[in-house]
Amino acid sequence: MPGDRTATGAVLRTGRAAAVNYGEHPPQTAPFRDRGLRAGAAAPIRVNGRLWGALATASADPDRAGPEMLEPLESFADLVQLAIGNAEAWQTLTHQATTDAVTGLPNRQWFDQSLANEIARAQRHGRPLSLVLLDLDNFKRVNDIHGHPVGDRVLHELGARLSAQARRSETVARIGGEEFAWILAETDGEDAFTAADQVRAAIASAPFVDVGPLTVSAGVSTLTAGGTSERLIAEADAAMYEAKRGGRNRTVLFGTVPGPTAVGEGRARSRV
Ligand code: GH3
Ligand code: MG
Ligand code: MG
Repeated sequence: MPGDRTATGAVLRTGRAAAVNYGEHPPQTAPFRDRGLRAGAAAPIRVNGRLWGALATASADPDRAGPEMLEPLESFADLVQLAIGNAEAWQTLTHQATTDAVTGLPNRQWFDQSLANEIARAQRHGRPLSLVLLDLDNFKRVNDIHGHPVGDRVLHELGARLSAQARRSETVARIGGEEFAWILAETDGEDAFTAADQVRAAIASAPFVDVGPLTVSAGVSTLTAGGTSERLIAEADAAMYEAKRGGRNRTVLFGTVPGPTAVGEGRARSRV
């Protein structure tokens, strides 16, 4: 803030550590003097070359507005910026290790952890939990016709469209080449089937940039008593395989077989 005569203001203005005798700058430093403070010092905290913030201190003794206040403060600011730099680096590494580079979505590792957490929570509270696996139909053709970079953009677009359809609290992850997973907490199989089939229909109805219409096949499974993540995934996978076998662009709930659905209609829910 221009005209800010506090020590922190001086740091923001100059980028350098500053000590200020508040007795000499009446208007701006009145709040300090009202609290009996006569001197202030502040030191910049820089992280990766940018001014991240400032560390400030104050004293009742106006004579301390000099190196006596500044030196320990600058030493401490060095430690603080080291700690913040480490924390930010850790955050970046964690993000990279759990995020898929092509889509920006959670990757398989994140998905496995989320699913384990959600299953534990569902079992603790006796609540339903469902899983949807979605696989792009005939994606190899997209790569063959348009090239791998366009294929990557399709994966990115699909990831964005799936995320936009899911609730914010739900995990949508890329767990394989052109395979995505969607965890639906508090959702039973029938409702997950309905949600998944809406997404399938929405994907099929809006063409992809540069490529045109594409479809997905979806498999849905739901947690049963004593269920595990391995079982939930295997069942959703089996249902997805049924959707492929049934002609693609359809949704299958595990434990059901594809019924005599019209092509493109996608729904399949007759029980075995
Ligand atoms: P289906 O309908 O049976 O699923 O057929 P498909 O062609 O989608 O499945 P297939 O398993 O035969 O081929 C998957 C293709 O996905 C082959 C592979 O090159 C492509 N793929 C996997 N990962 C990536 C990626 O990160 N980027 C791109 N561009 N393509 C990928
Ligand atoms: Mg595929
Ligand atoms: Mg696949």
